[in-house]
Amino acid sequence: MVPEFQGRNLVIATMHNKDRVMRSLLEQTLGVNVHVIKELNTDLLGTFSGEIERTGTAEEVASRKCELAMEETGFTLAVASEGSFGPHPYLFGVPVNEELVYFFDRALDIHCIGKSISPETNFSHAEVVNSDALLDFAKRVNFPSHAIILKNNLHKPTVIEKGIQDYNRLLDAFNRMKERYGKAYTETDMRAMYNPSRMVVIGQATQAMLNALTNRCPSCNGLYFKLTDFEIGLPCSLCASPTQSILAHHYSCRVCGFKERKLFPKHKEAEDPMYCDYCNP
Ligand SMILES: [Zn+2]
Ligand SMILES: [Zn+2]
Repeated sequence: MVPEFQGRNLVIATMHNKDRVMRSLLEQTLGVNVHVIKELNTDLLGTFSGEIERTGTAEEVASRKCELAMEETGFTLAVASEGSFGPHPYLFGVPVNEELVYFFDRALDIHCIGKSISPETNFSHAEVVNSDALLDFAKRVNFPSHAIILKNNLHKPTVIEKGIQDYNRLLDAFNRMKERYGKAYTETDMRAMYNPSRMVVIGQATQAMLNALTNRCPSCNGLYFKLTDFEIGLPCSLCASPTQSILAHHYSCRVCGFKERKLFPKHKEAEDPMYCDYCNP
């Protein structure tokens, strides 16, 4: 429980049942009363399947969702999340799912973000010309626990079937499209309620946001004592020269301006010579 939030109403801006994983985390950690507005058409801000292009960064979209939800409810607390899918920054060909959770407290003027990046995603698409190829794809992306989308065109679909969760509907929809267009495009349905893998990552991002939010300033006890910078230079355990690994985190208070440098990671005082530019060039 956090006294600043205890008993206050908080709205989650979601159409896709993300509250399933966020609600208990928010209620138990902060002591807020969680409400969900389903009428808020967050799809107007962009969808994954390409009918409406998302404009702005994930952070900007999530922030706008919070604003919309606050206007709708009159509450001063809102949470929204936004997911992105794409190639791993270092590993070629490996898709990753990044989830961002945005917390906005209008009364205390706090904007707090939590993120989680995971390679545990089935994000994928394919052009299919026969039902064998379709069933191979379905198997690969963990269908039917994870839903699939079928459409007649990759970028500008005029026929689209979303949230397919059983084999009969999948094959029916495919046969109809194949008959008319000769082939179909299939892709993973990344909406949270159709994608349990994504739900897990949303939970992790929510927890990361809560950890940042409830971190208090050692000087004034203000909430969201904020991580502002990383300092590299963790010394090598063999030659003691600085490595590219993180040595310390820098925090700064948004209320009183107090700054703190904390050594990181706590359990590790020196880096393995394997990562040292001198010992292992
Ligand atoms: Zn402070
Ligand atoms: Zn060294």
